Amino acid sequence: MRRESFAPSDLEYVKKAYQYAKDAYGDQKRASGATQIAHAASVAMRLAEWHLTTDIIIAGLLHDILEYTNITSEDIRNEFGHKVVRLISGENLLDSLKYWGKEQYAENLRRMFLSMAEDVQIIFIKFADRIDNLKSLEYLPEEKRKRLAAESIEIYAAIAGRLGMEKIKQELEDLSFRHLNEKEYNWVKEIADHYLKDNEKLIERFKSVIAEDAKKAHIQILEMNSRLKSLYSLFLKLVEHDRSVEKIFDILATRIVVKDIPSCYAVLGIIHANFKPLPRRIKDYIAQPKPSGYRSLHTNVFVEGKVIEFQIRTPEMQHEAEYGIAAHWLYKETKAGAAKIGRRGEWLKELDSIQRELKQKTSLMQTLQSVKIDLFKNRIFVFTPKGDVIELPEGSSPIDFAYAVHAQLGDHCHGAVVNDMPVELDRKLRSHDVVQIITSEKPCVNKNWLKIVLTRRAKKYIKEATKTYAEKIFGN
Ligand code: MN
Repeated sequence: MRRESFAPSDLEYVKKAYQYAKDAYGDQKRASGATQIAHAASVAMRLAEWHLTTDIIIAGLLHDILEYTNITSEDIRNEFGHKVVRLISGENLLDSLKYWGKEQYAENLRRMFLSMAEDVQIIFIKFADRIDNLKSLEYLPEEKRKRLAAESIEIYAAIAGRLGMEKIKQELEDLSFRHLNEKEYNWVKEIADHYLKDNEKLIERFKSVIAEDAKKAHIQILEMNSRLKSLYSLFLKLVEHDRSVEKIFDILATRIVVKDIPSCYAVLGIIHANFKPLPRRIKDYIAQPKPSGYRSLHTNVFVEGKVIEFQIRTPEMQHEAEYGIAAHWLYKETKAGAAKIGRRGEWLKELDSIQRELKQKTSLMQTLQSVKIDLFKNRIFVFTPKGDVIELPEGSSPIDFAYAVHAQLGDHCHGAVVNDMPVELDRKLRSHDVVQIITSEKPCVNKNWLKIVLTRRAKKYIKEATKTYAEKIFGN
């Protein structure tokens, strides 16, 4: 926590809220076994780490209080003012909506955006709450865990991404990914760990080359860190590239933080003088920031035959890249902040337009479709009739789905029912479809399916199965 951000009186105010929550909760426990007050404190700590305002931190401490104690919003209003009340009642409104079924999902998403129109800050409490909850999901039944994890990736992480909150997005994704598919998570984690270990020496070598040249040029490097992509984004890339780590170029990113913008360009020069850049991979997001407000210089260079990505930025850009809109929230409430938030104007405009669209649309499904187009590239999540989540690439068919569930189900797939409607087997599935496979007694797998399916898994099984059956029938 960056204490200097708070006036001493604010700190007293936060302490008062903590004591208030502690008294109200007593030793109430959560399903995970942790105490209610520990959860509240951890949510508030996170909000403080994100450098948000005192009101938000207090709202974080009190965010579950209306639900789990006898305290009323009137009580909170008297103690902490109506701003805090608004923050926590908005938060509870979102909580009362469960993520289940398509319609509720769309409604959930819509309300989330609408509540941000009232106060974007509510979303920060939701993020902090969700991250803490994801850390203690083990005690829940598997189905519920997966559902929460899917929701966290699809809604929470996606929105964090749009707000430019990269760090929060990654944390949400990696925590959820483990619950969504532990096997895949462990597989990716092992690849990532190996990659870092195998390249440890290489990383040290290029770092010292850059550090030395920077020193000669009197440029002070404040931070130089090599790190992998988040595990979830690495997973998506791996799936896209035949699960082969050799095919992924930008697995490793090295971040260099220097004190000002001229130093950023100077460091870019030093890198290019030492290592050959890949054509068309030099991005100047300082001169032309991304719509989210993101600024940095990016380049991909060859180092000893490997492609390494560099991201060069100032400490301010670094903070913005991690916390997005939250980075400026504190300033916004001060006079000097108006100019700073101005740069975020682009993003606020985008949020405004999403909200306007949402308000105009009558059909919730329409809403869902249009929002989803931007939010999720290339992946869809569909459900089994039991509610298990199956992740597939966009454009997948019911046959892909069947093979994703089980090889036998694929081989015997005779028809499909999507959202209670019979469909053709080449129908393209959409996120949140509930897919039921009609099976026949004898296998009906055939070579024509290869023209329909998209996933490697389905292709592999179809080839195997058609070969075996051909052997049985023709004896060759
Ligand atoms: Mn909570």
